[in-house]
Amino acid sequence: MPEFITNLTVKQIKDLVVSLNEPAYRAKQLLGWVYRKLAVSWDEMTDLPLSFRQKIADQANLHILTPIHEVKAKDGTVKILFGLPDGKTVETALMKFKAVDGKHRYTVCVSTQVGCPIGCPFCATGQQGFERNLTPGEIIDQVLYFARRLQDNSKGREGEKIDNIVFMGMGEPLANYDALWQAIEMLNSKDGFGLSARSMTISTSGLVPGIKRLGGEKLQVGLAISLHATDDKLRNQLVPVNKKYPLAELVPACREYFAQTGRRVSFEYALFDGVNDSFSQAQALADLLQGLNCHVNLISANSTANQTLQPSPGDRVLSFQQALQTRGITCTLRQSRGQDIDAGCGQLRSRFLTQKSR
Ligand code: SAH
Ligand code: SF4
Repeated sequence: MPEFITNLTVKQIKDLVVSLNEPAYRAKQLLGWVYRKLAVSWDEMTDLPLSFRQKIADQANLHILTPIHEVKAKDGTVKILFGLPDGKTVETALMKFKAVDGKHRYTVCVSTQVGCPIGCPFCATGQQGFERNLTPGEIIDQVLYFARRLQDNSKGREGEKIDNIVFMGMGEPLANYDALWQAIEMLNSKDGFGLSARSMTISTSGLVPGIKRLGGEKLQVGLAISLHATDDKLRNQLVPVNKKYPLAELVPACREYFAQTGRRVSFEYALFDGVNDSFSQAQALADLLQGLNCHVNLISANSTANQTLQPSPGDRVLSFQQALQTRGITCTLRQSRGQDIDAGCGQLRSRFLTQKSR
């Protein structure tokens, strides 16, 4: 199978260009076409000699993803199910926010694996089991696809572009560290997509070795921890990887991450009715995070197939938030986006898998 261009690092692209007996500066031109002008075909790259375009087309493909299905929510969130070269599927969401200046900001929510090995019982992806890691190009192409759409849609208008990338789609990003990091480097590189590291956030279920490795990286991307519980007994059930990396290891790893990087850690806490939303659990959360420079995102959970894990009622969500704020913990309430279109990552794919098996 030919290679996909987005699977190659900047250095590998330079080496490829040189191996095709082309001057090295062609690598920069090629990268510019792929990552800045967001080309959809080799033919577009008109300032590259035809002979070079033909040679490179023999060696590599430009596209990996095939959009299979698209849904659009009332709040502007667009979600796409993509087909991969081996017939598997992943989903990616583009979320639209209105900023104070009246302009729109766009965040793309990217998948890193097909399925997920962690198996959280409230998560549609977790219920699908794990199939495989995505390659760097499969991760990058999700971003390029939406960047291209925004570019096409905004002809004549200014500033419709991807502002943030969150690795919060299907899969556990830190369980696919090498591919994730290669993708992040290219998305950040001045020769590549050129988005600042600060505009990217990795969300993890709490893989402590990955968090430690991240703390030592030069690029400082944001870190979000999907906490959801404040004691090991409950967290073992909600986020089963807690059995391997319990809170007594996870929270100190976050403190160390802050000490190393100076970057405030975010904690995601989805509220489930009667499970993790009591006043005493809010106090326990405040105790756990005491003195840590962090931010808590309270999420009103998406309803799940699991009867015992249903969203907390609105008044309980507000009381939980108040309890945290009284204790000096900064927290915001995040409404789940795209509720009307199976918002939680994995839900669209779940629906497709069910239909296929019928
Ligand atoms: N695997 C990583 C990133 C992908 S999941 C992680 O777990 O962090 C992205 C976020 O969606 C996580 O915070 C996850 O806990 C949350 N999530 C999954 N299913 C949900 C649901 N039904 N309701 C609310 N949040 C959910
Ligand atoms: Fe995996 Fe995250 Fe879903 Fe848990 S919440 S199963 S870690 S994708």
